[in-house]
Amino acid sequence: MKNKKKKAVLKLNIADEVYRVYHVKCIDKDPKVYGVCDPETHEIFIREGQSSMGYLRTLIHETIHALEEEYKIKIKHKSVHKLEHAIASFIIDNANLLSTLTKKGTT
Ligand SMILES: [Zn+2]
Repeated sequence: MKNKKKKAVLKLNIADEVYRVYHVKCIDKDPKVYGVCDPETHEIFIREGQSSMGYLRTLIHETIHALEEEYKIKIKHKSVHKLEHAIASFIIDNANLLSTLTKKGTT
């Protein structure tokens, strides 16, 4: 990944690894690339300037790739795209889920 990094905007705990998320202006000089996951360095790069839904979908997409790597799951790329959409919709449609899980009484 040739983009010069700034500070990680997010750290994701995935299995026993910490994946750092960076915002970048461009990925591989290709305007059609919105994100990339580098399982070697445990880094995820997300292109800036996306809509919030686009951002969420890209983050989920790249996280699925990280999950594939860390849990040794192989998912066809077409299915990664379908999951990206399904999980983003699930998160949007259940926006109170995380706050519910972090309340006392749930561990
Ligand atoms: Zn992908």
